[in-house]
Amino acid sequence: TSSEELTRETLDRIKAQDSRYNSFITLAEEQAMASARQADEQRASGKASALTGVPFAHKDIFCTRDLRTTCGSRMLDNFVPPYNSTVAEKLDEAGAVCVGKTNMDEFAMGSSNETSYYGPVTNPWGDKLVPGGSSGGSAAAVAARLVAGATATDTGGSIRQPAALCGLTGLKPTYGRISRYGMIAFASSLDQAGTLTRTAEDSALMLNAMAGFDPRDSTCMDRAVPDYTEGLNNDIKGLRIGLPTEFFSDDLDPVMAQQVREAIREYERLGATVTEISLPHSHLAVPAYYVIAPAECSANLSRFDGVRYGHRCENPQDLNDLYLRSRSEGFGEEVKRRILVGTYALSAGFFDAYYLKAQKVRRLIQQDFIQAFEKVDVIMGPTSPSPAFAQGDKTDDPVNMYLEDVFTISTNLAGLPAMSIPGGMVNNLPIGLQIIGNYFDEGRLLNAAHQFQ
Ligand code: GLN
Repeated sequence: TSSEELTRETLDRIKAQDSRYNSFITLAEEQAMASARQADEQRASGKASALTGVPFAHKDIFCTRDLRTTCGSRMLDNFVPPYNSTVAEKLDEAGAVCVGKTNMDEFAMGSSNETSYYGPVTNPWGDKLVPGGSSGGSAAAVAARLVAGATATDTGGSIRQPAALCGLTGLKPTYGRISRYGMIAFASSLDQAGTLTRTAEDSALMLNAMAGFDPRDSTCMDRAVPDYTEGLNNDIKGLRIGLPTEFFSDDLDPVMAQQVREAIREYERLGATVTEISLPHSHLAVPAYYVIAPAECSANLSRFDGVRYGHRCENPQDLNDLYLRSRSEGFGEEVKRRILVGTYALSAGFFDAYYLKAQKVRRLIQQDFIQAFEKVDVIMGPTSPSPAFAQGDKTDDPVNMYLEDVFTISTNLAGLPAMSIPGGMVNNLPIGLQIIGNYFDEGRLLNAAHQFQ
């Protein structure tokens, strides 16, 4: 099959089926067909890479040149970036064909894809079910077989939790592995790009293309990029797996716990050893995150002022009126809640009590992991507390929604890489097995994931 045929067929399938899922915000028909033709020429001249000509989708948080990039917000409804994010640039260079931009929680704030200005996304596993968030559109598009892979971002769980709820493989690399240049910022010290795919092998192929140093992101690490497909078939005999006591407490639904333990028993059958470990500050991850992430978001989102780009109110009376109405109209409820919390936490008189304290807790959480990795190679546990839940179930209760990420947030605070892979079924719905690795140990995570699949 030529990439041109494959891309045409992919676009037609999305147009015919996506009204059920709402997983795309923007289709890139013309651009996609042009890059497919280019890919076919490359293939004909023998210059193809593994991704050349393969259709995929970008989460709508990655700036794509001449292609609308909304970040799920009314604020950026009319934003057409004049430049590419590094992630978009690199996948372009690898010859992959971007067919469109996927739906997401507004500015990546949410765990159910219900905060998007473009409406909720439906999980292909059930009519009224959420796909998880914030990368819910990417997850639904892959789960519905509209595309084989999609980019995503993870600030507190936004790749892994949707992967779990949609039965996919989600990879959040080490902080600094992939450039954040051109990726619209939510919480800069936590945000990291990654992948949503069906298999670990597909994740490895995408990571090969996406990873690497970029002088335009000062937190991006100058470190060689190995071929992540190389170690996929390594034997995992002797792999030391740690199970944190805190991830299997009485708060975890016993049916979930049983299924996660069953998945881990499969690793023992493959020759891995399992020991119990402790991450004693785990219970502080969600509270620390909900100070740090809103604080950083309140600073990052101050750039949306109705002047430089994005939504601008009609007939502003003066500068204050312009700021006030542009931001009031452009941002949704959850985004406003985060800006208010963050501004409060950073304000003089509260800074030491909240932000500084949260940063100290963050260090303790990181030290827990560093100690654990002296004894084990990977850490395993559930990805999320439950399988996919019904749309509307948690929208009136922000704190309950925030608890969706109770198992994923600590790795972002520590900057560690982590994956969610399909770990079995609970109530006829997929659940995720989370695998957390040491810094820059993505290869080992992908190997462990591949051996399980
Ligand atoms: N659900 C978390 C939040 O709303 C994490 C989101 C994310 O990882 N982008 O902040």
